[in-house]
Amino acid sequence: MRISRKIKKGTLLYSIVYLKCPKCQNGNLFTHKNPYNFKYTLNMPDKCTSCGISYKFEPGFYSAALWTSYPIVILITAFLCVLFMVWLNISISISLVLIGIILLVLQPLIMRWGRAILINNFISYDATFKLNGKL
Ligand SMILES: [Zn+2]
Repeated sequence: MRISRKIKKGTLLYSIVYLKCPKCQNGNLFTHKNPYNFKYTLNMPDKCTSCGISYKFEPGFYSAALWTSYPIVILITAFLCVLFMVWLNISISISLVLIGIILLVLQPLIMRWGRAILINNFISYDATFKLNGKL
């Protein structure tokens, strides 16, 4: 709840953090809210349920999310390396195992954030946009 007060609607970060439609920021990017429901982790609707903009670009479009999720993994790994090895003074082998486990647990979220970052590069926020009803 504290985060929602800090991130304002209409910003790029709002759409990425809350996995909302990049155009209207009302509709959800994914069909199921829980990323750990593995059957539906990456299921996205064909278009936004609120504004109607299409989430489908071309076949294989979302494979580019590999490149947008990679920096997230690097940032988390760097933070955890500093946390475990410098601040907590844990040995490197145990730290690497812990980092691997944490990254594995966070993977569904990281994949979703990667897709959100990717789609936000191609669609920008427009509060007045409304495609539903026009078609
Ligand atoms: Zn929308």
